[in-house]
Amino acid sequence: MNQILKAIELYDTTLRDGTQGEHINLSVQDKLLIAQKLDEFGIDYIEGGWPSSNPKDEEFFTKVRCLDFKHAKLCSFGSTARTVSTVENDPNLLGLLHAETPVITIFGKTWKDHSVKSLGISDEENAELIYRSVAFLKQKGREVFFDAEHFFDGYKDNCEFALKMLLSAVQAGASRIVLCDTNGGSLPHEVSDIVAHVLTVTGIPVGIHSHNDGDLAVANSIAAVIAGASHIQGTINGIGERCGNANLISIIPNIMLKLQRSFPSNLHLNQLTSLSKFVYEILNMPSNTRAPFVGKSAFAHKGGIHVSAIIKESSLYEHIDPKLVGNHQRVLVSELAGQSNIRYKAVELGIDLPEKSELIKNIVRHIKELEHEGYQFDGAEASFELLLHKELGNFQPFFEVLETKVHIESSKNAKNVDQAVLKVKVGEEIEHIAADGDGPVNALDKALRKALLHFYPEIKSIKLIDYKVRVLEEKRGTSAKVRVLIESSNGRDTWGTVGVSTNIIEASLLALQDSMNYHLFTLKASAPPVKIKSHQ
Ligand SMILES: [Zn+2]
Repeated sequence: MNQILKAIELYDTTLRDGTQGEHINLSVQDKLLIAQKLDEFGIDYIEGGWPSSNPKDEEFFTKVRCLDFKHAKLCSFGSTARTVSTVENDPNLLGLLHAETPVITIFGKTWKDHSVKSLGISDEENAELIYRSVAFLKQKGREVFFDAEHFFDGYKDNCEFALKMLLSAVQAGASRIVLCDTNGGSLPHEVSDIVAHVLTVTGIPVGIHSHNDGDLAVANSIAAVIAGASHIQGTINGIGERCGNANLISIIPNIMLKLQRSFPSNLHLNQLTSLSKFVYEILNMPSNTRAPFVGKSAFAHKGGIHVSAIIKESSLYEHIDPKLVGNHQRVLVSELAGQSNIRYKAVELGIDLPEKSELIKNIVRHIKELEHEGYQFDGAEASFELLLHKELGNFQPFFEVLETKVHIESSKNAKNVDQAVLKVKVGEEIEHIAADGDGPVNALDKALRKALLHFYPEIKSIKLIDYKVRVLEEKRGTSAKVRVLIESSNGRDTWGTVGVSTNIIEASLLALQDSMNYHLFTLKASAPPVKIKSHQ
């Protein structure tokens, strides 16, 4: 019998093992949305939860019946029975049957120490417990996968015991044996040696379930596949207990693009980035910008030499074509940038740059000076775009802040109310505006809006969604320069702006001004721009 499946099966446990991670919380509705998405993507097996462990999982298994999966098979998860004599009445096994899933995954002890110390039973009793539990579920017409808990540690401790437990499950009719690195401490060469040995003694396809405690869960899963495993368990974005589970988002493209192996379904690899983002959104977690394959920075180029090379041939500095996984190439603007970055960026922003390289050289020099002062345009592309238009003579600010006063009030008992007073010039008119706020930056934001709303009603839709302050010269303590990064949104688009100063209020005001100017500029707002005196 061929123990190695031609295609590699994907088994997702985001909804069960993933939810055991710290700060991970999914409602029944969230779980249903993720299950639907996993099926659309092409995952083969979706582990929905542990039905007898909590009412939420029970509710999930009832409601999931209304979903019509195109390809995926639903699995419920639980342990073997508690004692041999009560297998047929075991509440956990009955709960699994009650969930009415076509596949049931049960885990059993395969590390002798755990069997002896935590269950307090003999080798024979443990083997019997596994056999009887699997056989009972098989008799009820279910496909049964056996998760061999702590298998790699158990194998290293007592190989004979560990293999005996596996064979018990095989003889009882399990169709997959899944080797679990439950404590996540194994190394890739150990995993491949052990998987290769297991394949010589079982007779059914072998799977891998890795945890990431040594930061090797993905490497261990790949090592297992190379050694002959044909079933991989993991979670989306690697969420899970402690340091997480094996990250399917990284495993899938490695298997498909590097090992050139296929999956049973018509997997939509170009939706990998959106699947990762979708799960982060549902979890209400910020996505990992440095995540391989799908992160915002995964194909972002900063160095000028890199950029001039990728313009000619992307593969010179990229391990795969980002489009294959639904991601895209980005070029960052920084002090490392050369003329190529600026040209690339201008094309991306739809700005026509003249061929004259003197102008581009000036722009690069100006950016380098600003970065030297502490500016950073990586997260502030709107400020960069304004700068480019300013250099090209296409943009003039829509307003000018002539004076700023901020009054900060702090007392133990009173609610903190700070006040900002601004003198703002729009066209030939000058506005004097005061506003109270919850903190000085909030007061400043409110005052600026109040001053401008009358001239530019378009700014009403702008919302400040993120505000970050970074101290640039830490050794200088409170007299140090600060960089303020602001993210704004109009409900449809988001944009980032930056301001730098030794005064946090001024840095914030610069970033706020850029944010409003950018919004008005993109809308091509029509009020008369201010006549600005030259700073030179
Ligand atoms: Zn696990």
